Amino acid sequence: MAEATTTGGPAAGVRWDLSHLYAGPDDPQIEKDLAGALAAANDFAARHRGRVASLGAAELARAVDELEAISEPAARVGAFAGLLFAADTQTPRNGALLQHVQERGTEIRNALVFFELEWLAVDAGRAEALLGDSALARRRHFLAAMRRYREYVLSEPEERVLAECHNTGSAAWSRLFDQIMTDLVFEVSIGGELRKLSEEETLALLYGADRETRRAAAAGLSAGLRANARVLGFIFNILVQDKAADDRRRRYPHAMAARHLANEAKRESVDALLEACVARYDLVTRYYRLKARLLGLPSLADYDRYAPLGGAEGQRSFAEAREIVTSAYRDFSPRMAEIAGRFFAERWIDAELRPGKRGGAFSASTVPAVHPYVLLNYTGNLRDVMTVAHELGHGVHQSLASAQGLFEQDTPLTTAETASVFGEMLVFRRLMREEKDPTVRLALLCGKLEDAFATVFRQVAMTRFEQALHGARRAEGELPLERVNELWMDANRPMFGDSVELSDDYAWWWLYIPHFVHSPFYCYAYAFGELLVLALLRRYDEEGPAFVPRYLALLEAGGSDAPERLLAAIGLDIADPGFWRGGLDLLEELLEQAEALAAQPSRAAP
Ligand SMILES: [Zn+2]
Repeated sequence: MAEATTTGGPAAGVRWDLSHLYAGPDDPQIEKDLAGALAAANDFAARHRGRVASLGAAELARAVDELEAISEPAARVGAFAGLLFAADTQTPRNGALLQHVQERGTEIRNALVFFELEWLAVDAGRAEALLGDSALARRRHFLAAMRRYREYVLSEPEERVLAECHNTGSAAWSRLFDQIMTDLVFEVSIGGELRKLSEEETLALLYGADRETRRAAAAGLSAGLRANARVLGFIFNILVQDKAADDRRRRYPHAMAARHLANEAKRESVDALLEACVARYDLVTRYYRLKARLLGLPSLADYDRYAPLGGAEGQRSFAEAREIVTSAYRDFSPRMAEIAGRFFAERWIDAELRPGKRGGAFSASTVPAVHPYVLLNYTGNLRDVMTVAHELGHGVHQSLASAQGLFEQDTPLTTAETASVFGEMLVFRRLMREEKDPTVRLALLCGKLEDAFATVFRQVAMTRFEQALHGARRAEGELPLERVNELWMDANRPMFGDSVELSDDYAWWWLYIPHFVHSPFYCYAYAFGELLVLALLRRYDEEGPAFVPRYLALLEAGGSDAPERLLAAIGLDIADPGFWRGGLDLLEELLEQAEALAAQPSRAAP
């Protein structure tokens, strides 16, 4: 993580108050809580070890309640140590506390791990009968979700051998990929000078205003990837084959099955999402045609996709950001605004820039008895205002879901970004309502469209590529690099149509995407999350205020059930392609607005 090097910024003095968790790193309560949790865990184990299979429904419910109560103080200390460290990574004391708490946490978890193992060993018939008992109603999802890998688990000795081989197998190949990419130096010629740059620096140049620099960055990136294609391509082939072997051993029905299981997502819903998106690739083509016009180019090259359009550079104080975000939230729901307001008023936010503070932004749910904390590095640009909206969306979601308790407050990946992206959209709409300058309005629209395209269509194209890659490897054996290039181009071309010229160089750009190496099929979760929000917003537009309590109920439910079922409970069927089309229609409306603004003669030339 990047760290801030300047002090203060437009949010100078905005620091969180962690005393709601503990008085400070020396608070004696920290050790008391850790020791208490470990003693309680050992006591729990003494009473339950070897007996989980014989517990009745009511006893099982009580056991889970007890487990949750034991985990709570440990989670509280863990949250405190993590936040203290994020706010100041340089004080050695903070790092040492974090390490200490992690070690003690492992001790406590190890004392309790028997519970899960014994629960997984309960045979299917008995588990089903228990889960159907009303005494277990509140814990049904938690206990059922724990068992979802059961069908795919191998025998204990097999699992042990696989776990041992993992570190010198796929994990080692993944790490080698990271090491090669970290060490790779890309040569980019800028203004006649040859610069040696890292991958990150090279990619950053693609967002620059100067076209020649973007072209040179793309050429440098391609040359660097091509020079290492033999070894990187070999790693890809090995990992894809390793996954095929693992899927076969565990009898997963298809290459995406393990990921769907982890996401608690049904195949039909993901397929409906992918199909709905592929059917609207025309939106991407239309947008890039518009962007070419706005940039004054006859057509876009692949390295022009991220070129800046300008017009949204204004600075905003932190007080303004607070006002924009809370009013946008209030327009939707006063209750949401009230919760967001507490983050500012009660010092649950750390927003100033400080040396040693972690970079980026996050919202941490901590424990249900306290409240979430939000970390920001606020510099005052429009992107940062959107980040405030994003993180407070998480914060509101976490606050509402805390009633579900420690074990079920957090959602799986696919719905984790619901409230954050929804919050950003509310702020975007308010800014659009208030902004009169057509140049700024157009910049806001294009920014939103490009964000949405990056999280929806690009991720769908990458998922299509992975489907083709894993399918081809299983059918054809080790794949020559040219074959993978072809699969990559086949997955990307339909999305860009004739709006972007994809060069032969672009054919190699699959080589640097870390998700393909580290977490196969991770990418669709981004598209799922973003499009879910757009579809929800569409429902709000159609239903008006009646939608608000249903949306809040969805947030309050946290991770207490699978996303499909939580959405079904408020009348939404995500296995229906029509649901996803609602979100895509909303994107089309934004695109139409942008096209109309761009056609206005009053708009200043780029
Ligand atoms: Zn987020």
